[in-house]
Amino acid sequence: MEKILNYINGELVEPVGGSFLDNIEPATGKVYGKIPDSDEKDVENALLAAKSAFEGWAKTSMKERSEILLKISRLIDQNLKSLAEEESRDNGKPIKLAEMVDIPRASSNFHFFATALLHDSSQSHFMEHVPAINYTLRRPIGVVGCISPWNLPLYLFTWKIAPALASGNCVVAKPSEITPFSAFRLSEICIEAGLPKGVLNIVHGLGPKVGSAIVSHSGVKAISFTGGTKTGEAIAREAAPKFKKLSLELGGKNPNIVFADCDFEEALSTTMLSSFSNQGQICLCGPRVFIQKPIYERFRDAMVEKAAKLKIGDPNSQDTRIGALVSEPHMNKVLSYIKLAKEEGGKILAGGNRVNLEGRCEGGYFVEPTIIEGLDHACRTNQEEIFGPVVSLIPFENEEDVIAMANSTEYGLAASIWTQDLSRAHRVGERIQSGIVWINCWLLRDLRTPFGGMKNSGVGREGGFEAMKFFTEQKNICIKY
Ligand code: NAD
Repeated sequence: MEKILNYINGELVEPVGGSFLDNIEPATGKVYGKIPDSDEKDVENALLAAKSAFEGWAKTSMKERSEILLKISRLIDQNLKSLAEEESRDNGKPIKLAEMVDIPRASSNFHFFATALLHDSSQSHFMEHVPAINYTLRRPIGVVGCISPWNLPLYLFTWKIAPALASGNCVVAKPSEITPFSAFRLSEICIEAGLPKGVLNIVHGLGPKVGSAIVSHSGVKAISFTGGTKTGEAIAREAAPKFKKLSLELGGKNPNIVFADCDFEEALSTTMLSSFSNQGQICLCGPRVFIQKPIYERFRDAMVEKAAKLKIGDPNSQDTRIGALVSEPHMNKVLSYIKLAKEEGGKILAGGNRVNLEGRCEGGYFVEPTIIEGLDHACRTNQEEIFGPVVSLIPFENEEDVIAMANSTEYGLAASIWTQDLSRAHRVGERIQSGIVWINCWLLRDLRTPFGGMKNSGVGREGGFEAMKFFTEQKNICIKY
């Protein structure tokens, strides 16, 4: 039984209350580990540790801070194989995906912000008529809270922690209780890298207990949260009256728009990835596939054919492309949406069922890649976030038609547009309501760019210097001379 511990004040410790939760392997449905069921007392200890570490950490030289973060990045690289195995076991994702995407990206997050901090600069504004100059300082906020979800566990956890630490803050962080293992391994790595005690504290446990204690604590001055829109709402309700800085990265229902003049093969192969990678459990996946009428049948049939060939299997096997969904409740939610799609008049063209594998993965939470057609863009299946291997195909006539449908949801996180017409790409890209638009690609990420959603997909932007701005407080100093 793998038992993980909290990381508080530089040490791995049991929760104060002594109770633990089960950690389930999604590919088998069996309990394989124990997670601290922490509460506000553990959060309080983490806060005290972070608070007393802050002065020292904020004063470390940029070079020193950068070197420690680079060391964490290198240690992640050195442990790539074992971290990928653990991430795959904890989350159900294919090991190949963890090896190629999740773990390398966690390392890049540290590497990126370790070097970004060396290139940070402050602004100054010269006043012409009164001889005066303003300069703007940015200083770390103090103790900040970072709360992350289960779909890309270490990838998203480090995406918050790295800029927070790089900017000189101390952190109290909580990974998802559904996928806590890689965060525990990160604590071991931080100890090995020599991160000073209390600079990063990781408290494991449930959202309404640990997460909420972090959000409501008066000592936490900023919260960076990634997760569901409903949880984001609860966090905003708690944090806003206390005037905390908030960065919310929330849900999505992204459109993937395929025009008839696209590069067909490229659009098709990438659409398979944006539909089913990580079992469709990436906030940037495109579950609404809009296909222009002249190529609708051909594109649809090619997708259905490809979906049938995706290998569903044990996540720890190198040739598996579709692993397990993250948990039984989540699998049931996804299956309930497939049922709803049928009730709403949708036709299931591919998949639609739970998969019962034999052997080790007998009790695992597997669902076939599912393709649906025949649903109105305004129905619940096409409006609500499913977050599973389920896509809905929607034919469209022209630009106006597809822009209106694409913008019809409450969300606005990301979109993909496939066309060879450059003017159309700009025209449509400009009018799609989302924080990120990919033209003829998907998930091509440059860590310097602003990342985040509009509408109910979030508030604020992370990524590059945006994240470092979020994690610092600005102060303008005006000198008359
Ligand atoms: P979730 O909102 O259930 O949980 C996210 C985190 O919040 C977890 O650590 C959880 O324990 C914690 N939490 C739960 N209740 C809390 C509370 N009351 N106070 C404080 N913390 C609380 O989300 P999830 O199911 O883990 O993740 C899936 C969701 O995340 C999807 O909606 C997906 O779209 C979204 N997501 C968004 C992005 C993005 O960048 N916009 C990225 C990945 C995932």
